[in-house]
Formats: sequence, structure tokens, C-alpha cells
Amino acid sequence: MPTTLTAREVWDELTAGNERFAVDQMDSPRRDSKRREEILGGQDPVAAVIACSDSRVPVELLFDAGLGDIFVIRTAGGCVDAAVSASVEYAVDALGVPLVVFLSHERCGAVGAAISAVDTAEIPHGLTRVFVEKIAPSVMEARSRGCQDADAVEAEHARIMAQHLADRVPAIAARGAGVVAARYRLADGRVETVYEAID
Ligand SMILES: [Zn+2]
Repeated sequence: MPTTLTAREVWDELTAGNERFAVDQMDSPRRDSKRREEILGGQDPVAAVIACSDSRVPVELLFDAGLGDIFVIRTAGGCVDAAVSASVEYAVDALGVPLVVFLSHERCGAVGAAISAVDTAEIPHGLTRVFVEKIAPSVMEARSRGCQDADAVEAEHARIMAQHLADRVPAIAARGAGVVAARYRLADGRVETVYEAID
């Protein structure tokens, strides 16, 4: 992808790629030895995407993108900690990506665990507790907006986290990077836009 794209153009490119993916018409671009050589000297991605580690959500594949196109940060549930924030800061400030995307997804186990913890008031022990700690605020905010089912909570989680990143990562405002929240549907392969802050 050209590196001079605006945030809007990047999102248009990514959503067009997702549509190709959803209908089994992938171009599978920039995945060959020529591309490997092109990017040997450095990376120049067009977007930073924060997504879940779920193996069913391979970011480059579902946007039909290639090597060096997307700076991807994945944790279970898309949980954001200092390392994730610093990675986004690096992508925006040092690599100059014009767009930051938070991508949640259908049937997210981490979101489901957070919903269950909020509903039962039982917080899990061990390391999985961190997912509940990070996602419960999204569940509570979604509930306060009338979102009951998991689909709606996943969409709200994306919106809340995208706005949280915009607040938390100074480079986003400083560089005027666009921010998008989206949710990936496992069943039909489509990414639905939940929220946009693109000038
Ligand atoms: Zn997930």
C-alpha cells in the first residue's frame, strides 16, 4: 500500500480488503520474495491494529493485506497495558501510521469471561483475572448504555478501547492520527465499523 495515504484512505483500503476476504476473492498482496526484499531496509506500515490473540482473528489475512502493511498488536481480549500503549505510540510517532484501529470480535472468550464475572460477581483467580480487570469496565459501560448481549458488548468494548487509546497515547492527538473501532464477525468474515474519529 502507498505510504502517503490518509487515515480515511487507509480505512477504505482495509475495508475493501476485508470484503475480498469475506467473499473468498483475496488478492493476497505483497506476500512474496519481492516484497520481503522491498521491506528489508525498514517498515512503513499504513495502520496500527490492536486486536485479540484469538487464532480465528488473523489481522493481515482478514484485511487481505501483506508483509509490512499493518503494525499488529495482539493480546487476549485486546487488553491494553503499558507495553501495548507504548507499541501504539511507537507506530504513530516513529513509524508515522495515520490510522489506529481497535478490533474486537464475535465470540471473544475474554469478553465472555468479563461478562460472566460481572454477572456473577465472581472474579477468577490466577492470571486470567487480568482479562476481567481490563474488560469489566467495558461490560459495565455497555450495560449502562443498554447493551445486553455479547455481540453488543464486544462492539462497545471496541469503541471504549479505541477512545481509551486516543486519550492514553499522546502521539495520536499530536500527530492527528485517525482512530477507528471495529468488530470482526467470525461467521461471515466481515469487519463492522463501530466508531470512527477520522478528520
Ligand atoms: Zn477474543
